[in-house]
Amino acid sequence: MQAGGLAPYVTAMSDISKKSLVGLSREQLAAEMADIGEKPFRAKQLWHWIYHQGETDFAAMTTLAKPLREKLAEHFVVRRPEVSRMQTSTDRTRKWLLRFADGNEAETVYIPEEDRGAVCVSSQVGCTLTCRFCHTGTQMLVRNLTPEEIVGQFMVARDSYEEWPSPMDGGRLISNIVLMGMGEPLFNYDNVAQALKIIMDGEGISVSKRRITLSTSGVVPMMRRCGEELGVNLAVSLHAVSDEVRDRIMPINKKYPLAELMRACRDYPTNNARRITFEYVMLKGVNDSLADARALVKLVEGIPAKFNLIPFNKWPGAEFDCSDMGQIRKFSDFLFEQGYSAPIRQPRGSDILAACGQLKSESERIRCSRQKERLAAGIEDGHNVKMEN
Ligand code: SF4
Repeated sequence: MQAGGLAPYVTAMSDISKKSLVGLSREQLAAEMADIGEKPFRAKQLWHWIYHQGETDFAAMTTLAKPLREKLAEHFVVRRPEVSRMQTSTDRTRKWLLRFADGNEAETVYIPEEDRGAVCVSSQVGCTLTCRFCHTGTQMLVRNLTPEEIVGQFMVARDSYEEWPSPMDGGRLISNIVLMGMGEPLFNYDNVAQALKIIMDGEGISVSKRRITLSTSGVVPMMRRCGEELGVNLAVSLHAVSDEVRDRIMPINKKYPLAELMRACRDYPTNNARRITFEYVMLKGVNDSLADARALVKLVEGIPAKFNLIPFNKWPGAEFDCSDMGQIRKFSDFLFEQGYSAPIRQPRGSDILAACGQLKSESERIRCSRQKERLAAGIEDGHNVKMEN
């Protein structure tokens, strides 16, 4: 963590009674213009200001006539999620705890590389899945994030690094997006798809689909649609090579077992330049033997694949340990020898709990203490209702 540790970074909360224009499709934006008696082409001008210039103040949108700017401000806002906390790790990884208009919160992380970096975006508040190695999975699902809230996470990162107007592709600090934050994106497909279409739009934020990776735990029925409609890179949280082990550590495997998951991967549009990334968390004595590595190679046979080996980040209460580094190297070397790229992921931002599998919104902690207060006051019965998609 940087000197000073916690960096309070609070943006002004826009007027929540007004509709935000962020997250609307082009068609929806044109319809909003029509509703206030404006021509649909205003949507194109607004799109440029909102997504290319990153402007949030209608008064500064100088290509629009002053009366129109005033009219827009009367009806709408260009809202960002509120940054309730920002932390920067010693390795420059940055994490934001973002608060949405209804008070729910989720986390977004920026992972810098040499001359570029990726924003890891959340798709849900909490998660319905309970992958046993994942700290985020211990948080109950609260709700899906809206397109506005998903795009808003990326825009907050851009604000933070002052990367507006949208730079040309070559010189971007924030060059990539990974949907690997809280939640399962394919359980919130429609909102994720709308957000990604906005992010990919060449007249706005303009991040190419080649630079976007969606990570799924294996929601088989949605994978084909994602490939056909969005064409983004796919990462699959695999983590085991047998149904027996995967059932144990990823309960979703009971619904979509390995054979079905691999079939869906074979059907996903790929080529050698756009291979599927198989994420594999290294759990000591669970999935890290050379026999597992051999089975892994057999499992992905015929799929343009690469691996990402993730040393397990132990969190308080976790039932697993990380494999020994020597064993992880042997596992990685074996995969390399078989012709696969299999780097060992360097843990990032672990001092601020921003590393993979460690995202867990402060909102849960706050909600728990509020719930305790409500229980103590006798106004809550203590039952938690788990929402299913
Ligand atoms: S690994 Fe992903 S899908 Fe599994 S519990 Fe964690 S956030 Fe949910």
